[in-house]
This record gives sequence, structure tokens and C-alpha cells, in this order.
Amino acid sequence: MTPLRERLMAVRARIADACARSGRDPSSVMLVAVSKVHPAAAIREAYAAGQRAFGENYVQELIHKSAQLRDCPELQWHYIGHLQRNKAKFVARVGAFVETVDSERVAVELDKHAAREGRHLPVMIQVNVAGEQRKSGCDVRELSRLVDHVRSCEHLSLRGLMTIPPLEDEAEASRPYFARLRELASRHELTGLSMGMSSDFEVAIEEGATIVRVGAAIFGPRPATRDQSP
Ligand SMILES: *Cc1c(COP(=O)(O)O)cnc(C)c1O
Repeated sequence: MTPLRERLMAVRARIADACARSGRDPSSVMLVAVSKVHPAAAIREAYAAGQRAFGENYVQELIHKSAQLRDCPELQWHYIGHLQRNKAKFVARVGAFVETVDSERVAVELDKHAAREGRHLPVMIQVNVAGEQRKSGCDVRELSRLVDHVRSCEHLSLRGLMTIPPLEDEAEASRPYFARLRELASRHELTGLSMGMSSDFEVAIEEGATIVRVGAAIFGPRPATRDQSP
């Protein structure tokens, strides 16, 4: 067994354990393998091991990899990076599940391009639950308005909320933010919750995550990237 396949199976086992602990059905949690910075060959290997959903943060990289992996018919892209309006066209074309809608302007643009592509795009609203400065995501106070707006977009289908909690050393430190996202979703009658990464996905599952976004624990450590440089 290759190391990547081994790590993928270990993550799946940890998801199953977290589900068992919290009395949840493992099929209620979707694993998105975050493949940013890793080559198409690594994605192909995970695909061969049964992984279907992959997360990318950069539009250029998404376009490039989706072309390279056109022969993997069941592969599903999740766009999880900050989305600029002028890139919405490309994301709509690839037909990705967009987890990071955080403004009406981006929603309008995605809706327009999804219509042109003849698609219905599943989307989530990214929420800045901790109210951190310089973090993308919709402000909690603006959420109701944005939910209404996205629901009014004919070619977008609102599936839930997504968040990235503040960076902490302890997984437990993320718990209150995950619980907060769950409350916000339930207040708006939304069932999808994308929360939890390599360092805290088990806590996220205990708090109700329906999507976990796991990169390093599957693909190994990332080389330094743009968003990690000073
Ligand atoms: C990179 C990234 C992840 C995965 O992080 P890991 O720590 O590698 O699991 C998840 N979500 C988002 C939005 C990311 O940018």
C-alpha cells in the first residue's frame, strides 16, 4: 500500500471513530481532500483509492488540474479559497461546489456565470465566526442578508455554512467556533456545515460537521506557499 493510500485510510478510520463517539452515521460526513499545491498525480492516487471530492484554493491551479484530470469522471471539485469576482467565471465553468461565498457581489457574479454555463452551482457561505480582522468570510451580523440574497439566486443552491476558526495549537480551542457555526446554520434552516481541517476535524464532527476539509493528514506537509509566506 502506498503511503498516501495509508494516510487516506487512517483519516477515514478517524472520521468513523469520531462519528461512532458522537452517535452519527459515517455517511453523513463528506471528506474533502484538500489537494492545493500537490500535483495531479497525487490526486489521481487518492482517486484510485476511492476519494472523489478534492479541495483547491487557487483558481489557476484548479483550472490546470481540472484539465489534467478530465479522465476522472466522478471527481468533484470544491473551491475553498478566497473568491474574487473576476475569477467566478472559471469556477462556474469547472462546476465546482463553492464553499467560500462571502459577499453579494461574488454571489451575483457566480450566479451570472452559472446561468451562462447552464449549471446550478452548490454553494456555501463562508462565515468569519470569530470576527477576525483581515480574514475572509461574511461578518456574522451580515449573514441573514447574505443568506436571503444567495437564496434568491436562481442558479445557486445554498447548501450551508463554512468556517475556518482562528489558528490555535489545541483542537479543543476550535470547538466553540464550530458550535457557533452550527447555531447560525440552524437559525437559517441550513443543514450543511463545512468545518474542521487536519488539526481539528474530529472535534468538528462531534459538533456536527457534514464536510471536513483535510489536506496535510492525507497528502503530507505542504511546501511553503503564497499564503504562508510573510
Ligand atoms: C488548506 C486548507 C485546508 C486544509 O488544511 P490542512 O491543515 O492541510 O488539513 C482546509 N480548508 C481550507 C480553507 C484551507 O485553505
